[in-house]
Amino acid sequence: MTPDDLKALIRTIPDFPKAGIQFRDITTLLGHGPGFAASVRWLAGEVEGVEAIAGMEARGFIFGAAVAARLGLPFLPIRKPGKLPCEVIGVDYELEYGVDRLEMDPTAIARGQNVAIVDDLLATGGTALAATELLRKAGAAVGRAAFVIDLPDLGGSARLAAQSVDVRTLMD
Ligand code: 5GP
Repeated sequence: MTPDDLKALIRTIPDFPKAGIQFRDITTLLGHGPGFAASVRWLAGEVEGVEAIAGMEARGFIFGAAVAARLGLPFLPIRKPGKLPCEVIGVDYELEYGVDRLEMDPTAIARGQNVAIVDDLLATGGTALAATELLRKAGAAVGRAAFVIDLPDLGGSARLAAQSVDVRTLMD
């Protein structure tokens, strides 16, 4: 399947979760077996060579875990606050309105382990930057991130590049 075929499998929902937002919905891509498989194959090819894959709750779990299993690598879940039963480390980050937080189990990472981030969509880069900071706090080396969708007007790719993260995106 070509990137254009895959793009045609993304559904756009106007005014979700609030007025004025065009939400790019991956449910329709996940619901298409060959399309989901081609997306995972592409992501895996872009991050091959790392030692572990990290994905952010919730849609990053879907793609990240599939990529990790395909490459035979560990998957590191980066979670919303209060979900992990163990001791955690966390990073707070700014949203358009308010703040959010990501948490992880710091013992999941060996010092210097080379970890790639996988998520469904890159917008401002705030989520991926927070994940990068969190993984580095836990001792990981983070040099690459791969996404199914980039919203290039929002500048996430440049923000990640400024933190030495090489960004790969399947479609705009
Ligand atoms: P950022 O932090 O880069 O501004 O936003 C990206 C994060 O928000 C990702 O974790 C992504 O799952 C979610 N997100 C924001 N907008 C959309 C959207 O239109 N579609 C999907 N599928 N996820 C979005």
